Amino acid sequence: MTADGRQPRVAVIGAGPGGYPAAFHAAELGMDVTLIDPEANPGGVCLYRGCIPSKTLLHVASLLGEAADAADWGVSFGRPEIDLDRLRSWKDQVISKMTSGLGLLTRARRVRFVRGLAQFEDPRALRIEPTDGGDAQRLEFDYAVIATGSQPAAPPGFEIDGERVLDSTSALEIDDIPGTLLVVGGGYIGLELGSVYAALGSNVTVVEMETGLLPGADRDLVRPLERKLESAFAEILLSTRVASLQVRPDGVDVELAGARVEEPSRCFEKVLVAVGRRPNSSSLGLDAAGVESDKRGFVKVDHQRRTTASHIFAIGDVAGEPMLAHKATYEAHVAASAIAGHAMTYDAQAIPAVVFTDPEIAWCGLTEAEARDSGRPHEVASFPWAASGRATTLGRNDGLTKLILEPTTERVLGVGITGRGAGELIAEGVLAVEMGARVDDLRLSIHPHPTTSETLMEAAEVFFNTSPHYIARNRG
Ligand code: FAD
Ligand code: NAD
Repeated sequence: MTADGRQPRVAVIGAGPGGYPAAFHAAELGMDVTLIDPEANPGGVCLYRGCIPSKTLLHVASLLGEAADAADWGVSFGRPEIDLDRLRSWKDQVISKMTSGLGLLTRARRVRFVRGLAQFEDPRALRIEPTDGGDAQRLEFDYAVIATGSQPAAPPGFEIDGERVLDSTSALEIDDIPGTLLVVGGGYIGLELGSVYAALGSNVTVVEMETGLLPGADRDLVRPLERKLESAFAEILLSTRVASLQVRPDGVDVELAGARVEEPSRCFEKVLVAVGRRPNSSSLGLDAAGVESDKRGFVKVDHQRRTTASHIFAIGDVAGEPMLAHKATYEAHVAASAIAGHAMTYDAQAIPAVVFTDPEIAWCGLTEAEARDSGRPHEVASFPWAASGRATTLGRNDGLTKLILEPTTERVLGVGITGRGAGELIAEGVLAVEMGARVDDLRLSIHPHPTTSETLMEAAEVFFNTSPHYIARNRG
């Protein structure tokens, strides 16, 4: 309650996986909540233009891959026929099922939903410009949560036209399947959407400016994916940049720059730019509210996600890396609890990262490279999926599960997994790191057989040199 006996008024700006859980949680804690977003229903980038549509299409890509693999097992389905209109409509149905469900939940939780774009007028009020017609309105608040997310970034001089030069939003529309597609950026989006287009029939070339794909992941986790993509993609060019793009009516002329580029002038039907995202903070009127951002535009926050104006919070992509939906949702709980006066702080030990390629790559906690670079004492226990019964039954031995361990305490500091379904398996690693599990806890917890979840237990066995299925060469 406020000093004058009212429920505190909370304005949540942006209804993505940061904003809508923050609004719901604040309402559950007894606050008077208004949630503002330009779309008709909550969902944000994740549901409308990110996680959900991309994973819907990646599921289809995986199905196509598995059907092709089945030929080696004596089952042939023939050449797939792809009806793009039906595929698009299936993806749109998935989005609308999820977002309309969130609309119902918003009403059920008595959260007021205002469709529009908000901007701070002063430290206690927003101006909301409706996106569905009508007049602008002023909304006064006691607390605000900024959850406005991020948008695709592009290198200087790259103009996204949505037809020849795409960003993730336009690529997810799958207007057609280009014969040739250049993907600029070998990170999450480049590899996930590149995989979708390759599975649908495009000749995909990836250029990545760093020396390896997915620069933030451990190299041994990336290697099995690299091997698979070398045959799925036409070409992967590392340490390479796009020096210039020239859009023509029938394609895009591209100049590539890099020490190992043999053919710098190329033409592609389409180009997908996937070089990172930038926070949506510049048009929020942050100055009017006394909220500071850093030089990249991320709103500055403390351990409770309080901004430099202590009654205003910021969560999700707009509050900094990693730009992941589950990190935004975690922060939503921290901020709503802090508004309610609870002592909850942001102290996650393991934010999982999952790249939904085939094979998937997932990791959490400390990576081996981070441990090495920071000089932190560590041991690594790895179990290759070549020794997993379940992976063999699936015809997918191209995986690896590894534990990064603290030598003195034998605590699990990090977990990395590459392989089919790695994204599901990493949750056990998150729990192990968050609960301070020791390697013995993983070894002595009975895992169901035959499953790829056993590879976590087997990696723990490798640490003790007791794996029944694998002898690690580097362990005595
Ligand atoms: P957002 O989801 O971006 O939502 C912010 C909302 O605020 C938007 O609806 C926006 O329109 C609205 N908004 C902006 N400005 C205003 C304003 N002034 N007033 C009112 N509303 C405003 N993450 C994962 O964890 N897993 C994945 O598999 C995954 N896949 C992805 C695939 C793609 C192609 C992309 C692009 C991203 C993916 N991400 C994934 C990242 C994930 O989408 C983001 O981390 C997540 O959506 C961030 O949530 P958020 O609530 O901070 O912001
Ligand atoms: P990213 O940061 O994952 O990858 C961008 C890549 O582009 C990097 O490898 C970078 O080195 C490279 N790059 C940058 N500039 C370049 C240039 N000029 N030429 C060639 N390469 C260049 O960014 P993204 O793939 O655009 O994704 C944005 C964010 O969205 C991700 O970081 C992640 O937070 C989120 N996301 C998550 C998922 C998931 O969780 N599965 C999926 C998609 C997106």
